[in-house]
Amino acid sequence: MDDLRSALERASDEIAGYRERLVDSRVTPLQRRAEVAAALPEQVPDRPAPLSHLLDELLAVAGPGLMASAGPRYYGFVTGGSLDAALVADVLASGWDQCAFNEAMSPAALAFEDVAGAWLKQLLALPATASVGFVTGAQAANTVGLAAGRWRVLRDHGWDVGRDGLHGAPRVRVVASAERHATIDRSLRLLGLGEAAIEEVPATPTGAMDTDALRAALDRGPDGPIIVCAQAGNVNTGACDDLAATAAAATAAGAWLHVDGAFGLWAAASPRTAHLVAGLELADSWACDGHKWLNVPYDSGYAFCAHPDVHAAALAYTAEYLTGQVAGRRFGGGDFVPESSRRARGFATWAAIRSLGRSGVADLVDRCCARARRFAERLDAVDGVEVVNEVVLNQVLVRVGDADTTERVVERVQADGTCWLGATTWHGERLLRISVSNWSTTEADVDRSVEAIGRARSHVLVAPPPAGG
Ligand SMILES: *Cc1c(COP(=O)(O)O)cnc(C)c1O
Repeated sequence: MDDLRSALERASDEIAGYRERLVDSRVTPLQRRAEVAAALPEQVPDRPAPLSHLLDELLAVAGPGLMASAGPRYYGFVTGGSLDAALVADVLASGWDQCAFNEAMSPAALAFEDVAGAWLKQLLALPATASVGFVTGAQAANTVGLAAGRWRVLRDHGWDVGRDGLHGAPRVRVVASAERHATIDRSLRLLGLGEAAIEEVPATPTGAMDTDALRAALDRGPDGPIIVCAQAGNVNTGACDDLAATAAAATAAGAWLHVDGAFGLWAAASPRTAHLVAGLELADSWACDGHKWLNVPYDSGYAFCAHPDVHAAALAYTAEYLTGQVAGRRFGGGDFVPESSRRARGFATWAAIRSLGRSGVADLVDRCCARARRFAERLDAVDGVEVVNEVVLNQVLVRVGDADTTERVVERVQADGTCWLGATTWHGERLLRISVSNWSTTEADVDRSVEAIGRARSHVLVAPPPAGG
């Protein structure tokens, strides 16, 4: 036990020091994947390693390959950091090693999911009666929501997909925006509906689904099972679909409405942004992430469903040996997710919300939006740089030049290491993409990052293109 105690003390020391240094540290790792791997033996070592030696090795080898994505100047993808409270709770979840399958396996894991789930519904203005599955992320949550929708719309057309699968089933139409997230397509592949089931609805210039076009698509198509897939928070622009109008159209068509709100659903948690997702409570299922905007450590996502019976019918299983799985039981845990054995993710989410309170969550959302607007103002003021989207949430798209210049600016920014961001293609144009999703990003971080971007662009404009480029 002495070994364990000292190793844990060292690990917690290391974590605390790492996080203190994040405030000022270089964001981009010093080593690439192959360099990190090269420092480790290729063959399984013959002998056991003492914990302290192993820890030496782990810290020394992993260190140079760590991306400071938990820090304040990482703006890639949509990447939250982790709140101190959520981190500590998640470390405990590892130490306790609980399985969150059902109550028999861990009353505490299930109870914290129950409470954290109820709190999430309050913060996100979802129906209090909705069921909640704690999953790995929005990819899994989209799959769960679409699985519930598939079960329900087929049952409405006399088909039991759980028993009979899709062989010979009525064709399911999936009506989704041209601006849907790519994970929707993967979920449809996994669910056997296939990408070809998608009927694409054009988006407006902001990146939200065109609701007139949605209505037209629903009027035009054949009668039959339909799933409508809407989005809160476009990964490029942050735009949210008009959920009230989408819900009205979906209801009129007898369709299931799923909302992919991986990060955008958090707009509901602040009075300043809640109008962007008005009507969200009218949907049938929702996907949301904890590891993005709530700043819970990876991995953490939530699958909500307005119809717990449908949710469980689509996902739950039972077997004789699973005590606690008896008639009249309360659903929860493994009933609402695709996994069987599962990490206890409720502790970290509970801790994040407990530490912030309702006002703190709203403030986290507002702060990230304010920093994104600051990015937009400051970057717009740089000669030759232009922000192309209306910054409604935490996402900023920036024009710095043609496609080649854009790639080179991104490379230069990443190599410089002050901050980290990526590029995207939006309406056929290569642009810088900035996502402010970290609780700790300050105005000074934004200003430092704007300077780094300006520096990188100046460098690229005066430097000759790389050989062969
Ligand atoms: C990030 C994201 C996803 C996928 O979420 P994961 O957490 O990576 O599984 C899906 N949809 C949207 C809109 C996203 O931003």
